[in-house]
Amino acid sequence: MTSVLRIDDLHARITGREILRGISLEVRSGEVHAVMGPNGSGKSTLSHVLMGHPEYEVTSGSVTIDGTELLGLPTWQRAQAGLFLAMQYPIEVPGVSLEDALEESFAAAGKSRAEVRERLLVEAGRIGFDERFLRRAMNVDLSGGEKKRNETLQLGVLRPRFAVLDEIDSGLDVDALRMVSRRIEAETSENALGVLAITHYNRLLHELKPDVVHVLSGGRIVATGGPELALELERTGYAGYGEAEQQNESRPLVQDPFADPLA
Ligand code: ADP
Ligand code: MG
Repeated sequence: MTSVLRIDDLHARITGREILRGISLEVRSGEVHAVMGPNGSGKSTLSHVLMGHPEYEVTSGSVTIDGTELLGLPTWQRAQAGLFLAMQYPIEVPGVSLEDALEESFAAAGKSRAEVRERLLVEAGRIGFDERFLRRAMNVDLSGGEKKRNETLQLGVLRPRFAVLDEIDSGLDVDALRMVSRRIEAETSENALGVLAITHYNRLLHELKPDVVHVLSGGRIVATGGPELALELERTGYAGYGEAEQQNESRPLVQDPFADPLA
């Protein structure tokens, strides 16, 4: 069955300041949409608002999966509706192991807890995640790259309908990046996962092939195109799309520290 994640004229603010200023886009099952934009353009805000972070105030617009409105629902209900967020900065959860958390999630959805262990081992193998981490406190003492693999592992076990990936490439070395992006690409064909891949860099999109690329600047989508748009951004940076307005941590597109020197 084809599902649709629809974002319509979404406006949101934090501490009284409007950050998202009318975002509209539609992702269907199996599609990969990249959202690219300079620092401070509102990319993480978009991901938090989609998942229902309580700090952000939605002032208008709607977000639906197959017509069901998500705005106003608590985060866990959005997850049950099929939405998943891989956070830019995954949170450490002392005292709770990844396995515990996923078992609870399965139980809440009426699925068998017993399935979790089996799937975790398969998924850990697929992305080269050390099995010892599965029973340890979630993300505690993991490196940045291990945390990103951990997010990918959860995605593989939970099999959501739509995944929002907020800079899942940051902190990953070349080999880990290849495994993670391949794993997600496989999920789009094996289970028709729809993806909103937020990223600064085209390197994520070498293996995770975007169908559509959006440029976010100043809280608005200022350009939409095919995969060639990501290549153009890699060459020209974001300067041609106007400075992100209202930003305080703006900087020009920096040299990608993880770029493959041979690419
Ligand atoms: P990006 O992910 O594209 O770098 P963000 O969505 O993180 O951008 O930030 C967009 C704007 O919102 C920035 O100006 C940032 O300072 C502001 N912002 C984000 N989160 C908060 C917050 N918790 N409190 C205040 N301002 C915030
Ligand atoms: Mg961000």
